[in-house]
Order: sequence, then C-alpha cells, then structure tokens
Amino acid sequence: MAIEVVTFDLDNTLWDVEPALKRAEEAQRAWLLQHRPGTIEHHDHASLWEFKKDVFRRHPELAHHVSHFRLQTLKELQRLAGYSEAEAESGAKGAFAEFLIERQRVDLYAEALEVLQQLAGRYKLGALTNGNADIYKTDAAEYFDFAFLAEDVGASKPAPDMFHAALDLTGAKPGNVAHVGDNPEHDIAGAKSVGFHTVWMNQAGIEWPGGEPADRKIANLRELPAALESLAAG
Ligand SMILES: [Mg+2]
Repeated sequence: MAIEVVTFDLDNTLWDVEPALKRAEEAQRAWLLQHRPGTIEHHDHASLWEFKKDVFRRHPELAHHVSHFRLQTLKELQRLAGYSEAEAESGAKGAFAEFLIERQRVDLYAEALEVLQQLAGRYKLGALTNGNADIYKTDAAEYFDFAFLAEDVGASKPAPDMFHAALDLTGAKPGNVAHVGDNPEHDIAGAKSVGFHTVWMNQAGIEWPGGEPADRKIANLRELPAALESLAAG
C-alpha cells in the first residue's frame, strides 16, 4: 500500500525539546523577576510543579490547551503575590510571550533537514503536536504541507482528532499515511487506533513499554526513508 502522507510528532522526534524548554522557563522567570517582583522568588522547581498540578486539578478543561494552561498558572501566581486581576492578566501575557520565543527556538536534529527535504519530494508532510511548538518557525518550515496543534483541534494525541484532521486535509486514506513519533502512547497507539502506519522514533534508546509495537522503529531520522519504503513494500 503506497504511503502518500507522513505525519510527524515534533518534540523529541525532530528535535530534543529539553534545551528549548529549559531556556523558555528561564526567560519566563527572568521576565517575572523584573516585571512582577514577588511572584516567583520563593518558588523552586518542585514547588512550581506542585502549583501547576493544583491548577491542573482545578482546570481539567485546559488539559488540551498547553498555552492557556500556562497563562492560567502565571496569572494565579501573580494574584497570590498580590497583583490585581488586570496586572496578573497582562503579566501572564508578558511572561508567556518570553517563554514562547525560546520554546519555539528549537535545534533540529543534525540530520533532520536533509531527511525532510528528501521526504518532501515524495510525500506530503504534516506536523501533529500536543505542545506549542511551531514547525513554521523552524528551518524545516518549507518542507511541511500542514500542521495541527492539540490546542487548536481541542484534543491531544492519542485522541483521534488530530489524525482525522490530517486525513480531512489531505484526502488520504489511513492506510496511505505513516505517523512518526517518540511517544508510545500518544504517537504509536494513537496513530494505530485510526489505522495509520506507525514508525517509532526512539532516539533516546528506551525499552518498548509494552502494548502493540509500532510497525517500524528507528533510532535516527536517517533511517526513516528506508523505513517508509519498507512499509509501502508491506
Ligand atoms: Mg514527542
């Protein structure tokens, strides 16, 4: 069965997300220290994590909206520090803007551009992310035909919504699509449930956690073109 469309997870599939997240958190913190003093000084990583978990418990509706969730957390932190509703609103926007600049300044894996260029000549390429990365802000932008974010679609992988959005947009049948991602549940189980072919990107070299395995697995994007060829060969 011919592969016509290849959909990609982004974080930890086309780049290592940790350095970008770390820079982003630092940029957000620096903004708060300067513009909303008293908000974050007494928090460390662990206490912020607890705070976020509490926000999450009270706002389950934000589960698929990572950006709104972060804005809500930032707002509540400032309210607790004594800032007014209006100050907290504008402060959340200000700090989040700083976060997002660094969050989207990702370093693609060294081989990614060459591989994506090669694939773009053969397949339609799409991005499906649960996060707030933007493929169109990276050097790989020109190779992508479409991109969906969970927060735009209203549901995160492994829910079928983003996969279905890719089918609707391309007009492809599930059997003509391969999804590539690092997360066994979100990417592999999710894509399998809608009938996509699956390629597990395991750059980190972890053990498969169990459950139905991906159709192919790769440890480096360089292996992807051959993996896609072999899927089409059956
Ligand atoms: Mg990922």
